[in-house]
Amino acid sequence: MQDSKIGWTHHTWNPWWGCNKVSEACKFCYIGPIMRRSGNEPFHGPMRTTTTWKMPFIWDRKAAETGQRLRIFTCSMSDFFHPGADGWRDEVWEIIRRCANLDFLILTKRPELILERLPRDWGKGYRNVWLGVTIEDQSQIQRLDLLAKIPAAIRFVSAEPLLGPVRFGRRIEKLDWVITGCENAAKESRRGMSTDWVRSIRDECDAASVSLFHKQYFQGTTLTFDGLIDGVVRQSWPRSPFAR
Ligand code: SF4
Repeated sequence: MQDSKIGWTHHTWNPWWGCNKVSEACKFCYIGPIMRRSGNEPFHGPMRTTTTWKMPFIWDRKAAETGQRLRIFTCSMSDFFHPGADGWRDEVWEIIRRCANLDFLILTKRPELILERLPRDWGKGYRNVWLGVTIEDQSQIQRLDLLAKIPAAIRFVSAEPLLGPVRFGRRIEKLDWVITGCENAAKESRRGMSTDWVRSIRDECDAASVSLFHKQYFQGTTLTFDGLIDGVVRQSWPRSPFAR
C-alpha cells in the first residue's frame, strides 16, 4: 500500500506546493524540475493545490479497513510551516484530527515558525503527527534545539542531503528517529556524502537506541536504496505511540 518512491513513507500529500530556498540543503531542491515541467514557478512561495485535499480520507478508510497505519509525508513539495501557507494550515490540522488512522510526517527547515502555527489543542502533540527538521550539516544543528522545545509524539531529523559531518551529542536524547541520505540530484551538480559521516550518525543512534533509516547512497555512479551501512540494512522506524 505504498505509492511513494520515498522509502520511509507510504504516501506523500501536498495541500500546497512551491517554496523559497532557505539553506544549502535547498540548493538543488527536487521541486524545481517537477514544478517547472507543469509550467509552475517553484520558488515564489506556496500555491494551494486543488485535487489532493480528499486523499487523506481515502487513505484513512483503507488504513481502518486493513488495520495498518499509513505514514503520510505531508508537504513533500513545500514546507508545511512556510508563512505563505498560513491561510490554509488550519484546514490541514482539521484533516489530521479527522484521519486518526494515518500518521502525518511533517518535515521543516523552518522550526522557528512551528510554535506559533500549532493548533490550540496541540497539548503534548497530536499522537498522529511526527515532527522533524532537516539538518544537512553541523551548521544547522540549532534546528534540533528549536524542535526539542516543542512537544511532539515523535521527533525526527532528516540528514538528507547529508552535506557534512553532524554530531548530535546529548541532543540525540530528544530524538526518536534519524533519516540519512546523499543528495539525489543530477550527476553534474550532486554534492558528495562521506560514508564516515553516516557511520558517525549510526553510532550515535545506536548508543542512544534511536531508530535510523538510511535512505540512499551512491555506489560508484549508481544511486542505491538498499539501506546498507557496512553490509547491514539500516532502515527502521520509531515505535508508534499507537503501538505503546
Ligand atoms: S525548504 Fe524544502 S521544499 Fe523548500 S526549497 Fe528547501 S528543500 Fe525545497
